[in-house]
Amino acid sequence: MNKLFKIFALAAALSTAAIPALAEETHQTVTQTNTLQFVSAGSKTFTGDVTMSNIYTPQAPSKSYAAIVTFAPGARTYWHVHDMGQTLIVTEGIGYTQEWGKEPVLLNTGDIVRCPPGVKHWHGAAPDSSMTHIALSETGGKVTWLEPVSEAEYPQK
Ligand code: MN
Repeated sequence: MNKLFKIFALAAALSTAAIPALAEETHQTVTQTNTLQFVSAGSKTFTGDVTMSNIYTPQAPSKSYAAIVTFAPGARTYWHVHDMGQTLIVTEGIGYTQEWGKEPVLLNTGDIVRCPPGVKHWHGAAPDSSMTHIALSETGGKVTWLEPVSEAEYPQK
């Protein structure tokens, strides 16, 4: 994993561990990057080869959780909506995100995508590059999965 990923993972760990009151956990945890368990994201809501791992799960009273998702070249989510929004941080590679009715937006390493609640969109790799992002969400948030991103909709360069 690259340095940027390690910085974001550390920041995420510190931000959820820094709440002294009401916290069930009483000490920091450090998760080594090589212990993350990547599994296939499946083919019902993703096109192409997509693997993902939890980075951290909610630590009360926080509802924040994070996952890291790697899209092979050409791979992408289906169109979908987050009812509580989502933040993406690109940690490696080149990809795209697109809102329904708008042009695709190129994503490079380090780019940050804030997706408000209720906005139909997709995100994924470029055709000729893989892309890895961290996805930050809240428990209680629901994802409504819609139709695949067609070859006509997907950027061809
Ligand atoms: Mn999304």
